Amino acid sequence: MLRAIYPGSFDPVTKGHMDIIERAADIADELIVGVLQNKAKTPLFSVEERVTMLSEVTKNMKNVKIVPFEGLLIDFAQQMDAKVIVRGLRAITDFEYELQMSQTNRKLNSDVETIFLTTSLDYSYLSSTTVKEVASFGGDISQFVPKFVAGKITEKIRERGENKNE
Ligand code: ADP
Repeated sequence: MLRAIYPGSFDPVTKGHMDIIERAADIADELIVGVLQNKAKTPLFSVEERVTMLSEVTKNMKNVKIVPFEGLLIDFAQQMDAKVIVRGLRAITDFEYELQMSQTNRKLNSDVETIFLTTSLDYSYLSSTTVKEVASFGGDISQFVPKFVAGKITEKIRERGENKNE
């Protein structure tokens, strides 16, 4: 049985992430989407909100589980008894960082392999940061994120009074 982990901040989950989740879930028997709680960063959404959004948009995927985590990814992989870490590669800019991370993780635990799925061309330009930027200026984000998530972003920006066009 192949259990894989797809880790990330998912602040918020985009259609690019969804593409990787769907493809990784086809390969693995069980896919755990690990939602990182990074105390050094101030995300737009709390880890609970990010978990809720991911759970909603993956509810029809029977072998996908959403689990929050803190600390070292490799420890989380061990706790979950996962042998594979999945990461998405968008462009060359992602490559150097991802190479460093995967090699460091292999040094820490050589039983866990990192595999990379290259982005679908449709989403290769997409990042959570850009989505938040567009939304903060009142732009249309419906083509970038699932509908449920778009609603949550609009709500959050309104709540925080962050629409820069108002
Ligand atoms: P992190 O803060 O760990 O980079 P992200 O939530 O930004 O977390 O991304 C998680 C993973 O998803 C990373 O492997 C990243 O390369 C990948 N990813 C992000 N955006 C896309 C996209 N548009 N298409 C495919 N993969 C993506």
